Amino acid sequence: MYEDIEQILFDEVDISNATDDIAQRIDNDYKGKCPVIIGVLKGSFIFLADLVRRLNIDFTVDFIKASSYGERTESTGNVKITSDISTDIKGKDVIVVEDILDTGYTLSYITEYLRGFSPHSIRICTLFDKPGRRIVPIKPDYTGIVTDDLFIVGCGLDYNEKYRGMPYVGVPKKQSKKIKE
Ligand code: 5GP
Ligand code: MG
Repeated sequence: MYEDIEQILFDEVDISNATDDIAQRIDNDYKGKCPVIIGVLKGSFIFLADLVRRLNIDFTVDFIKASSYGERTESTGNVKITSDISTDIKGKDVIVVEDILDTGYTLSYITEYLRGFSPHSIRICTLFDKPGRRIVPIKPDYTGIVTDDLFIVGCGLDYNEKYRGMPYVGVPKKQSKKIKE
């Protein structure tokens, strides 16, 4: 089914361990609280589902969708909210959940946007982080796996909407070079 994967970088155990770690940290940090967990669509849906099933605290879930104009595999500064949250987050503790933090454009835009609703706090949680690609200086509060500057797919991450359901994470064949350029 996924024979066009050039290299597997992280298997199901790596991802499961990273998710366990983050869930434990969030459980500790939000004891007695009820954060609003906001998933960034579409890429975060698998990680978010895995994460919340490991949490022991109370929480609510919402989603936000953002798009950035420009090349297909590169984010640009031109971010737009295309689907908004439906929760009133004023005074609430918010955790924004992303699949991957790359240039930082998307998450910095989204966190600034959400700050406009005056939440009590906002933290960022990402399954993958590519710090070497950062353009906007933004640091996640919870990081699953730090990875190199390769374009990866699987576990929610897509290439042209493909591979989101792949339970492990890898680099798609041939496309890796093209995408990096
Ligand atoms: P940023 O705005 O931080 O550059 O990009 C964030 C978004 O770009 C992610 O939510 C994701 O949708 C996409 N993205 C960045 N790097 C990758 C990658 O390696 N693989 C995939 N599939 N998407 C990526
Ligand atoms: Mg995304």
